[in-house]
Amino acid sequence: MKRAGFARKATHKRLGRKTELAPGDTALKRSTALRQGERGLARSELKPRTKRIPGKQERDEASERFWHAVTGGKARCVMCGSRRRLHAHHALQKQTIKRIIRSWELSPHDYWRLVYAPEVGVAACEDCHASHTAKLPPIPASKIPASVFAFVERTFGREGVAAIGREHR
Ligand SMILES: [Zn+2]
Repeated sequence: MKRAGFARKATHKRLGRKTELAPGDTALKRSTALRQGERGLARSELKPRTKRIPGKQERDEASERFWHAVTGGKARCVMCGSRRRLHAHHALQKQTIKRIIRSWELSPHDYWRLVYAPEVGVAACEDCHASHTAKLPPIPASKIPASVFAFVERTFGREGVAAIGREHR
């Protein structure tokens, strides 16, 4: 969306610029040179935007909050009920959340708050989590609380709900 703005700006500059043509030069050559100049301008202006990397500090804080919220208090393993060595399992994988929200233009705080939304977390003991990761067997979708599905549908849409199903069978 924003790229269109840059392109328009570049076009304005192009129209206002006069390029010297040596006798014998063709109009085709001139337009080729201008197109190359335009690309260079757009690239340098876009650099800060495309290089924007969400903050490490925001990520670490969100990750910490996620872990405490999911494994703290009276949390039990969603598979075996154990309260020992709990892991915070992402019912919707981080990479899936990142893919869905990639184009949302969020602040680093909001971006990481969604990637590590505690509402998407499920407690699983070390053994059951390892079993899930190795699919020996995985945590089935039937063990994911309805509240997680509701949050995911509200926040990430049907695509997120479908992904939970795919990731838990
Ligand atoms: Zn367990």
